[in-house]
Amino acid sequence: MSMKKRRSPARKDSVMGRISESIGREEMAASLACTQDPRAGRLLEMLFDPAYRQHSFPKLCERVHLSVTDVVDLFRRFKLDQGIVAMAKAAPRIMADTAIDAESTLSPCMNCSGTGSIIVKSSEGDIERPCPSCLGRGSFRVPGHDKSRELFYKTMGLTKREPLMAQQINIHSNQAPTVEDFVMETERAMETEKALKDGKRRR
Ligand SMILES: [Zn+2]
Repeated sequence: MSMKKRRSPARKDSVMGRISESIGREEMAASLACTQDPRAGRLLEMLFDPAYRQHSFPKLCERVHLSVTDVVDLFRRFKLDQGIVAMAKAAPRIMADTAIDAESTLSPCMNCSGTGSIIVKSSEGDIERPCPSCLGRGSFRVPGHDKSRELFYKTMGLTKREPLMAQQINIHSNQAPTVEDFVMETERAMETEKALKDGKRRR
């Protein structure tokens, strides 16, 4: 046990060194700026303080009592925040894709190769007749993707939505949300997040 304890700091030091190297200074600073943890705030100040220029990142972490797990967790949360914003930005496009997937499409009739007619051989020669499979239409309507349709109806308020989703998306309580509503909501969420981050930066 005591052997382990003695060996531990050096090992932690090298792990911390590798982590900070792979994350990079700019990203590390950004992740430290996005938390309310006072230790992260102190570390951020030290990173940009010329007085600590000679100190390695692991040494600075040790000074503010931030462990390897703490640093990784701060960075993980920072990246998750970025991911949520990226997802929110992509939401209008993905919703439009879902609407397209939900739409029916026309599939050409295999029996008449989409022409709507077939040639029937008779004693009087070849006669063109309407295709019996597609009744001369040349194609079949293929309903849109089931899951996309289900989601489409839910989002448009035509079927019961999950309470959380309804609360987050439906701005006008008695109207079905539009894509514009969703974009507005996304922008509002991003502004809130930015305000939160700015607030945290000021501490
Ligand atoms: Zn046909």
